[in-house]
Amino acid sequence: MTAIRDRGGGDLRGDLCGDLCGDSREQRRQRGQLCGLFGGTFDPIHLGHLRPVMAAARAAGLAKVIYIPAGAPPHRPRPVASAGDRLAMVKMALDAELKDSAAADMEIKLEVDDIEIKRRGPSFTFDTVQELHRRAPQTRYALLLGLDALLGLETWHRWKALQRGVHIIGIARPGWRAPAPLPAWWRRAQVESAAELRAAAAGKIFIAETATAAVSSTAVRARIQAGGDAGECLPPAVRDYIRVHHLYAD
Ligand code: ATP
Repeated sequence: MTAIRDRGGGDLRGDLCGDLCGDSREQRRQRGQLCGLFGGTFDPIHLGHLRPVMAAARAAGLAKVIYIPAGAPPHRPRPVASAGDRLAMVKMALDAELKDSAAADMEIKLEVDDIEIKRRGPSFTFDTVQELHRRAPQTRYALLLGLDALLGLETWHRWKALQRGVHIIGIARPGWRAPAPLPAWWRRAQVESAAELRAAAAGKIFIAETATAAVSSTAVRARIQAGGDAGECLPPAVRDYIRVHHLYAD
């Protein structure tokens, strides 16, 4: 899910979500629930992709979060593990998360969608959201982004249209903080409560103040390459999958 430079201009509202942003309050009420989209390379998925995301989803009152592993991320080197392995690990992690109750207690539905893995070419979030809107025109979407990803939003493909067509929920990540002062587009979009986010059709940014997890896939891969198993950063099923399939070891 992600990136690359906005090729400029274009009112994405039209492209992305029809008249979504101009809806009346009644039309908005009639629309479906707000669904979270959490994209990433997930190379591999780790605890920082789970607990902070669940907490942010709860803070924002999301009914569902869809995890979307990137096929060919446009803004970074090719993932180390295959798309099949990354997808398998995300499925395992979500199964465990549901059993383990954090999400179950919060009554948040967790799903994984291979939409970007199946698509040829770079995994642009704009294209993904457009396709999801075509599939389910009544659903409103909120991108869940770690603060590092949110800070890079301006480099994403058709980012202005994307930002106007979805909500964004920023997730705290150790080592990253929002810029001060905020850029004008961010300041105009930012809301202070989840209620304001839910009341709007699209185009708002809400920063969820959640517990943080100081972990990254890069650090996990480095630990495994150095002979460790990074077990405390991973769901046990993912740690075992990595070991059995000899991922990241060389
Ligand atoms: P890498 O180290 O390979 O760059 P990563 O750990 O940053 O990987 P990604 O799959 O690139 O993981 O990130 C997917 C999404 O998860 C991004 O929005 C990113 O900001 C967010 N994210 C990753 N780790 C954390 C974390 N520890 N806390 C909060 N958000 C996170």
